[in-house]
Amino acid sequence: MASDFDFSGKTALITGAASGIGAATARWLDAHGVAKLVLVDMDRPALDAMDLSCEVVRIGGDVSDVELWTTGMRDLGEIDCALLNAGIAPGGKSIVDSDLAEWKKCMAVNVDGVFLGLRRVMKAMAAKGGSVVVTSSVSGTKPYPGTAAYATSKAAVLQLMRVAAAEGASQGIRVNAIAPGPVDTPIWDKADITGSLHGDDDARAAMMGELAKGTLLKRVPDTDEIAASIGFLLSDLAVNVTGIALLSDGGASLRV
Ligand code: NAD
Repeated sequence: MASDFDFSGKTALITGAASGIGAATARWLDAHGVAKLVLVDMDRPALDAMDLSCEVVRIGGDVSDVELWTTGMRDLGEIDCALLNAGIAPGGKSIVDSDLAEWKKCMAVNVDGVFLGLRRVMKAMAAKGGSVVVTSSVSGTKPYPGTAAYATSKAAVLQLMRVAAAEGASQGIRVNAIAPGPVDTPIWDKADITGSLHGDDDARAAMMGELAKGTLLKRVPDTDEIAASIGFLLSDLAVNVTGIALLSDGGASLRV
């Protein structure tokens, strides 16, 4: 039985790797001995700026683009672990005020991107087995007003994960989800959910304070804490765990 987080000799693929939770997971795996990281993100300059000690392959592109996963990864080789994590978080509008184009864009990145990623990495794991984590959200389990597209996409990711777990088991492929509550990452600066922050640090700190109040633990985690939970699911310590959503939400889902 494995006694530690040991990723030596392993190759891991991460999408949305240039920022936030994806970047923290890349650093976490690097610190835990991973041999090679395949990092995917549409922000190529940010990918290039990442300083890691293991072998790194950087792939710039859009996870909802089928070409990225086909011709763009023709020479991918074997993959042991994957975090399918790239996502966007439009929001702030009620269903009646929402725009169809924004809905479709959210589904394309958050759902198509995970579907295409699962299809590619599960092929790359077929010979030896492996472990996949997909990034959902507490929003995929609890209805927050103004999050229709995002919440629906994250619920779809949970069901995709369960189907993938059922299909992958016979090949030794485990598939699980991480479902964070609010985490302090740049996604909040881009999302409309919170209004326009425009680089206003005081407004950002106030927003994080409000988000913390929505949890039982009254805190917003940093990305390293989420990366450690993802690392556990990817590791051999979770050898008997497949088809689950690990909620790391400080109890937000239990608040009425
Ligand atoms: P982030 O904005 O810091 O990082 C997201 C990364 O994904 C960015 O580097 C961005 O360039 C990349 N990306 C976005 N669209 C892409 C695309 N189409 N193709 C390739 N790359 C793309 O955000 P984060 O908070 O680290 O988010 C990571 C995941 O965690 C997302 O799926 C998000 O929905 C989920 N999540 C975040 C929170 C939170 O509070 N931060 C909570 C729950 C779930």
